[in-house]
Amino acid sequence: MINTDSSLKNPNPEIIFRSQRETSREWRNSSYEERVSRLKKIRNWIKDNQQAIREALKNDFRKPEAETDLSEIFPVTAEINHSIKNLKKWMKPKSVSTPLPMLGTSSKTYVEPKGTSLIISPWNYPFNLTIGPLISALSAGCTAVIKPSEMTPHTSELVSKMISELFEPSEVAVVLGEVEVSTELLKLPFDHIFFTGSPAVGKIVMKAATENLSSVTLELGGKSPVILAEDADCKDAAEKIVWGKYVNCGQTCIAPDYILVHDSLQETLILELKVALQKMYDPDYTGIEKSPDLARIINDKHFERLIGTIEDALSKGTEIAFGGKYNPETRYIDPTLLTKVDDEMQVMQEEIFGPILPILSYSTLEEAIEYVNSKPKPLALYYFGKNQENTSKVLKETSSGNTVLNDCVIHFLHLELPFGGVNNSGIGKAHGYHGFLAFSNEKGVLKQRVGLNNATLLRPPYGIKAKQI
Ligand code: NAD
Repeated sequence: MINTDSSLKNPNPEIIFRSQRETSREWRNSSYEERVSRLKKIRNWIKDNQQAIREALKNDFRKPEAETDLSEIFPVTAEINHSIKNLKKWMKPKSVSTPLPMLGTSSKTYVEPKGTSLIISPWNYPFNLTIGPLISALSAGCTAVIKPSEMTPHTSELVSKMISELFEPSEVAVVLGEVEVSTELLKLPFDHIFFTGSPAVGKIVMKAATENLSSVTLELGGKSPVILAEDADCKDAAEKIVWGKYVNCGQTCIAPDYILVHDSLQETLILELKVALQKMYDPDYTGIEKSPDLARIINDKHFERLIGTIEDALSKGTEIAFGGKYNPETRYIDPTLLTKVDDEMQVMQEEIFGPILPILSYSTLEEAIEYVNSKPKPLALYYFGKNQENTSKVLKETSSGNTVLNDCVIHFLHLELPFGGVNNSGIGKAHGYHGFLAFSNEKGVLKQRVGLNNATLLRPPYGIKAKQI
């Protein structure tokens, strides 16, 4: 069904919310088949509009088509396929065992849709991080109001068009706009809010949610470290780090933010990072700026913030091991490796979210762990090393939303794993079953037999009975 009503372009959030509340009552008991048909509509639309998605992202920040396929289209279709394959199982009530005092009863856990949901998304993967959570919401049987980022107008418009072609606003609706629109939406008593963005805005969202006691999933960011151990394979690590860092030009929530390398390997690592950068982004030696495979910085504000970060580090004694050049007209910044960095520099105080990669060295693993633990818990922690004891030590002594051993970033695509942060990097988990649960209420149901009374001993008058328990 195609909605052509132009009033839907700027719909009134409150009217939408009220109509979605009605729908969510109807959708409470929607069957597996009904939910799957909603997911399939999205899958078919994506299949028919792949080029439009690529164009939108190219227009927003010159995202390479191959990266759009890999990091925007593929993860969403994979999420849909995974849901379709597993949803029947996820929706089934699950029996639980009966403890002794409950003998004679039987109990199950039911999953029911939370109801109405609000999805607020960021600009950095504007298709994936908007439609991905929607797949979880629809799988769980929820309606959704979506507020995409104002910073990627082409993709956000396309998402709006897609949703208005596929759904009634009383089912799924997109509300376009900036902070004021978000603020208005956050006043409404949604049953669940799924927010992806910065920790600073995450706190605003959580505060707003307390007014209505809406549950929240907060997918936030922060500084995700790489620890490179004494026995790491530098070539292997460098190739993986370069891809993980420079996909989307470093504008990835789980991009390696800084590297802690054992001091015996620092020189080799820098050499291998340079080789990997050359191989991936400048195979013809014509200059990385000419590479068609490196996205640009999203806007002037972020460009200036990143250049400011490099200048601040240079004024405090950093050295540029690679890169350092930039072009304000095209918002291009060289992949830039920094050494001699310290905590006084902005680059070590804020999430970088761009192509700058600070490299710090350490002499003992304890020192590296202590450094990571002195910062807020990261969204992802990457460890490169072979020794099993050291690997276990890192796993046991650090806390992060996800940990990846001997690779980085690829865990985003693993739909059996919970994806998300911990405290400052996020609350709640996304993807696959975990995303489905985020939009579901797990309801415990206990069935007693008529005439059977397990609580006889618990009833007044307590007197001597209480002493028998
Ligand atoms: P952001 O927090 O600035 O904005 C996210 C969304 O919130 C946008 O739609 C924006 O319009 C809205 N918003 C902004 N200010 C608001 C306010 N005061 N009140 C209500 N809504 C407001 O984030 P961003 O710059 O779009 O994205 C970058 C951040 O997102 C980084 O910190 C990154 O690490 C994080 N991120 C996390 C994940 C994850 O899965 N954990 C994924 C991508 C990005």
